[in-house]
Amino acid sequence: MSVVVTGTIGIDTVYTPRDRRDGILGGSAAYFAAAASFFVPVRLVAAVGGDWPKQHRDVLEGFKDLCLAGLDVRSAGRTFAWGGRYLDDINCRETLFTEVGVVAEAPPPVPASYTDSKFVFLGNTHPSVQRGFLQHFPQRVLAVADTMNLWIETARPDLERLLGEVDGLVLNDSEALLLTGHRNAVSAARRVLEMGPRFVIVKKGEHGAILVSSEGLASIPAWPADQAHVVDPTGAGDSFAGGLMGWLASRGEFNIQVLRQAMQWGTAVASMTIERFGLERLQEITREDLDLRMAHFRAISGANIN
Ligand code: AMP
Repeated sequence: MSVVVTGTIGIDTVYTPRDRRDGILGGSAAYFAAAASFFVPVRLVAAVGGDWPKQHRDVLEGFKDLCLAGLDVRSAGRTFAWGGRYLDDINCRETLFTEVGVVAEAPPPVPASYTDSKFVFLGNTHPSVQRGFLQHFPQRVLAVADTMNLWIETARPDLERLLGEVDGLVLNDSEALLLTGHRNAVSAARRVLEMGPRFVIVKKGEHGAILVSSEGLASIPAWPADQAHVVDPTGAGDSFAGGLMGWLASRGEFNIQVLRQAMQWGTAVASMTIERFGLERLQEITREDLDLRMAHFRAISGANIN
């Protein structure tokens, strides 16, 4: 079973306290697609500009079963570009610039060969664009969305409509607070459930993540990363979502046990993403490496359930 994703493909500039990278491949859809491709075939729908480097395409083509037929190259436009700087506390990031480029234009077309997709992930973009994307997949069995403060503040009515149409929402604790007014992640997630989705996952950074669904609650810890091994946290959230959706699509069922496992897989992939800049770490690992990381994560979190 494949997963279809839409979101940004970005040209990122990343500063960390120890090092920096200019013009590397990033974007929510790139991280998501790379992470999910360890589990199932992935169909990508995104736009880039004429400035998109060939080396970035080569990186994506290096992932097994990552289909780029939905990559819309607009030669007259510019690729989404983002810059971020991490502070000495690597959990803190400031955005240096965001140049939306082709993302401000019409959404990329969905190839006809993708329209039978059953698992749909809506990466971070305007909720009306996310809703428009959903309509292309009448056979969908699971649609999950990501969102961010910008849309909660500027497009709340569209976001609320979207929440009535998706099965799941993934967001972080500050976004959950902004959306619901509840600082407590469980209370916030329960409030979001009332808006429509069947499950809500609230990511709490180094404090792990919680799931609230109509079936009950699940809570998983974060990967206890040694600060010395955290090279670049960019894309951790999108990698988490990729691992989560990849696992769900590979299993084809969504009870609370499978959702809990999916959160663990998401955590395992994200824990690897942050060990190098950009997608460098995901480029070099195999599914076997990921299986080992997952076994390690389960052992240290006392969660050896299958
Ligand atoms: P994360 O670290 O999971 O928040 O993801 C960071 C990635 O998201 C970077 O590679 C950026 O290119 C991309 N990004 C940053 N800002 C936005 C935005 N407003 N919309 C979509 N993607 C973004």
